[in-house]
Amino acid sequence: MRALVPPRALLHKSGMATEGEEAGSRMPPGARLRHGMRQAGRAIVDYALPPRCPACGTIVGADRQFCLDCWSSLDFLGGPACARCSIPLPSAVPGGDLECGACLADPPPFEGAPAAVAYGPAARTVALRLKYGRRVGHARLMAGLMLAPLRALAGEGEALLVPVPLHRWRLWSRGFNQAALVADALTRLSGVPHDHDLLLRVKATPPMRGKGKRERARIVAGAFALAPGAKERARGRHLILIDDVHASGATLRAAARILRRSGAARVSALCWARVVPDAATGNLFDFAALDSDMQSERMTG
Ligand SMILES: [Zn+2]
Ligand SMILES: [Zn+2]
Repeated sequence: MRALVPPRALLHKSGMATEGEEAGSRMPPGARLRHGMRQAGRAIVDYALPPRCPACGTIVGADRQFCLDCWSSLDFLGGPACARCSIPLPSAVPGGDLECGACLADPPPFEGAPAAVAYGPAARTVALRLKYGRRVGHARLMAGLMLAPLRALAGEGEALLVPVPLHRWRLWSRGFNQAALVADALTRLSGVPHDHDLLLRVKATPPMRGKGKRERARIVAGAFALAPGAKERARGRHLILIDDVHASGATLRAAARILRRSGAARVSALCWARVVPDAATGNLFDFAALDSDMQSERMTG
């Protein structure tokens, strides 16, 4: 299968080969030998473990690259959307921000919640492989595609990335927080700093499988708290919650509500994938189908 090279700026592989070649020609002999051995080692690894599409596993040309089919299937959510929660809307209003009915009826405690892509088969597989398959390299892939919405969201302000925390029991059992890995990668790519310890998850929440929007909100109520010293670090800043999947928004709402008590100037959210309504069925959030993907674990959102 032919592999598509996504825009270079997105995957941050720009000029990798040429930089290496130029660097090689300027190096002293010892460093050049080590550089050459590293390149040879990499070639051997690539031969034994060729880069694969993060969604379907097809062999592709380089790491962190989707195959053509998966790349084409990603929905980058560029159309008209709710100014508050970023759910796609059927049409835009010229010269004004439009909010969806759900946000007008019950305004979320965050200003804007863009996502890189709509939640679909390829986006879901990437998120699941990071979370349960321990493919931690996928965090950088996700961050690369979250960079454009981050830049639009963060602007020139004093932004600070705050990953949605896991309860310490889940952190011990999983060994890492996928949202924190994505925030780290975003910091490396964008220069926007992160703070892993600003927000705490003080309540272990039961699985949200099969639960509706209201029940999810009840489950995560009281799950978050500000860490000691959070107010000094957050005052006047634009806090951006980072998470993998934005489903009902219950988790983001609960976390943002607590962050607003920190004295931050603004609170918003940025996720890898956004669950969007199914236009064909009119089903706003098909949580049953969503959660069957999520095995026995709690679904974020
Ligand atoms: Zn693929
Ligand atoms: Zn909305």
